[in-house]
Amino acid sequence: MLSVNRINTYRIPFTFEYYRPRTLREALEILRSVEGAKVVAGGTDLVVDMKFRRVEPKALVDVSKLEELRYVRLVEDYVEIGSAVTLQELVESEVVRARLPLLWEAVNSMASWQVRNIATIGGNICNASPAADTAPPLLAYGAKLLLTSLDGVREVGIGEFFVGPKRSIIRPDEVLQAIRVPVHPAGYGWSFRKVSRTSFDIAKISVAVLLKVDGGRIRDPRIALGAVAPTPVRARSTERAIESLSLEEALEVGPRFVEGDIAPIDDVRSTAWYRREVAKVLLRDSLRTAYERSLNPGWVHEG
Ligand SMILES: Cc1cc2nc3c(=O)[nH]c(=O)nc-3n(C[C@H](O)[C@H](O)[C@H](O)COP(=O)(O)OP(=O)(O)OC[C@H]3O[C@@H](n4cnc5c(N)ncnc54)[C@H](O)[C@@H]3O)c2cc1C
Repeated sequence: MLSVNRINTYRIPFTFEYYRPRTLREALEILRSVEGAKVVAGGTDLVVDMKFRRVEPKALVDVSKLEELRYVRLVEDYVEIGSAVTLQELVESEVVRARLPLLWEAVNSMASWQVRNIATIGGNICNASPAADTAPPLLAYGAKLLLTSLDGVREVGIGEFFVGPKRSIIRPDEVLQAIRVPVHPAGYGWSFRKVSRTSFDIAKISVAVLLKVDGGRIRDPRIALGAVAPTPVRARSTERAIESLSLEEALEVGPRFVEGDIAPIDDVRSTAWYRREVAKVLLRDSLRTAYERSLNPGWVHEG
């Protein structure tokens, strides 16, 4: 009987076709016409999955060099980011740093410089890992995703995109074209924190916070977490519970409520118990940092 190797090796243990289209339209045509075709960008998630034979695409459609997917643009009150922009390009983007500091802080914490040079924001989202570090900031900002196929473009909120671990609503014939992120609201503080085994490892727990302070009270808190549920999540009940509280009150109340917003599991990276406890600690730290930055926003472009 033929046995199948399912351990990580240096080789991809099956054959597949490789396409490098010159335009987005060409990419969409290949995805529609070639059965079993899959998009690849940096390959830093997909190739690992292929080596383990978790996925076995018949063909790869490389979108990493498509100019139509490689831009960062400030358009009125939002920033539009092409899906094939690399994480390192986001770190070096003045628009992202000044207009989306919460996203910038998350991306700046991701992986190593070498990985960031090829890994893309679109790949991080479409891989749909519960631990994807760009997801909590994008959830807090209320980002929209532009999903494109030969039938046209559909715009979906990032909160509707993820449906389970490594599962999203994107169809096999669609490409994530761009991400539209509302610019950082004036006067809001922000904080992204994560705990991982090493500084460039995948998160065991991550927390993103955006909030405003008005007369010493927290207003419009937006809290999102990664790696503590089947998908990245907004902590809606925690947000409601700390609305209009002082910082000291929120530090007491927030951690009690956040337990109800998450559903962590035991896995290779951590235990559910550890994730629950550390989520509370990271939430406390993030609330404090976001509160202080709301009073003193530093580098952020205001308004
Ligand atoms: C050493 C190492 C460290 C890492 N550290 C981190 C970390 O700290 N934080 C973190 O979140 N991740 C981390 N990762 C995971 C990975 O690097 C990121 O998720 C990365 O952003 C994936 O992007 P990519 O371009 O390589 O995606 P790919 O591997 O090319 O694709 C991933 C998935 O998305 C799909 N896809 C890609 N682009 C599109 C598109 N435009 N439209 C539709 N589908 C698309 C692919 O079909 C595939 O299913 C790490 C990985 C490694 C190897």
